[in-house]
Amino acid sequence: MKRIGIIGGMSYESTLHYYEEINRQVNERAGRLISADLILRSVNFEEYHELMESGDWQKIDDKLSREALGLVHLGKCDFVAIATNTMHKVADHVGGLLLLPSDMALRMDIPEDIPLVDIPLIHIGDSIAEKCKEVGAKRVLLLGTKFTMTEDFLKKRLAEHKIETIDLSRHSKDADEIDRIIFQELCRGVVTDESADFLVDFIRKFPTDSEPEPDAIILGCTELDMLIKSESIMGQRKKIPIIDSTKAHIESIVKHCLSD
Ligand code: GLU
Repeated sequence: MKRIGIIGGMSYESTLHYYEEINRQVNERAGRLISADLILRSVNFEEYHELMESGDWQKIDDKLSREALGLVHLGKCDFVAIATNTMHKVADHVGGLLLLPSDMALRMDIPEDIPLVDIPLIHIGDSIAEKCKEVGAKRVLLLGTKFTMTEDFLKKRLAEHKIETIDLSRHSKDADEIDRIIFQELCRGVVTDESADFLVDFIRKFPTDSEPEPDAIILGCTELDMLIKSESIMGQRKKIPIIDSTKAHIESIVKHCLSD
C-alpha cells in the first residue's frame, strides 16, 4: 500500500470527509483492520484565504509547495493530493516540484532535462474527468468558488480530457452567491436550507435562454456536497448526472494508494 500525503484544512469540513472516506474505502477494499497509511497536513485556512483575497497566488504556491515537499521528503509519502479544487490553480507547479530529486526540489525551481522521480500529485481535475467519461459527459456545468467558476485552471484541465465547460459569465450574481455560501457558510460548518434551496434552484433552472444543456453538473468545490447530498434534486426535470469532485478525488486517491 502506498503512503498518502494530503494537504487539507481548506476547509477542515471537507478534509474530515476525505480522511473518513479514504479510510472507509481502503478498509472496504483491503479488509481485516487495514486502514490508510496517510499523513494529513491540515493548514490554517485563514492564512490562505487572506492571500486568495489579496490575489497573492505566488505566496500560496510557495506555501503549498513547501507543504507538499515536506510530505514527500520528510514524511516519505508516495504521492500527494490537495484536498480542494481552488488550490489546483497552483497544482501544475507544485506537482512539477514533486517529480524532482530532493536536492533540486528543495530549491523549488524546476530545471530542464533532469531525471524525474515518480511522485505524482493526484489532480482533482483528472478525477472529475474520469467520472465524466464514465457517464459520457462532454459538456458540463462547473460549480465552485468564484476562482474555479471564472478562471481557467480547472476548465483547462477538463479540456485536456476533451470536456467543455459552459460559460457562466451571464450568471455572475449567482456565481457570487455560490462563492459567498462556500466561504461564509460551508467552510465554517454552516449548512442552511436557504442556501441548499438556492443551489438546487439554480441547477434546476439551468440553462436559461439559448445556453447549452449540460451533460453533467460538477460540484467543483469540496464543500458543496454538504448542501447537495442526493442526485434526486433534479426532480421532474430531465435527469442529469451530478459529479461530486470530493467523491471523485477520494476514489482516485484510494485507487492509487492500493495500486501496485
Ligand atoms: N474547498 C473549496 C474548493 O474545493 C474552497 C476552499 C478553497 O479555496 O480551497 O474549491
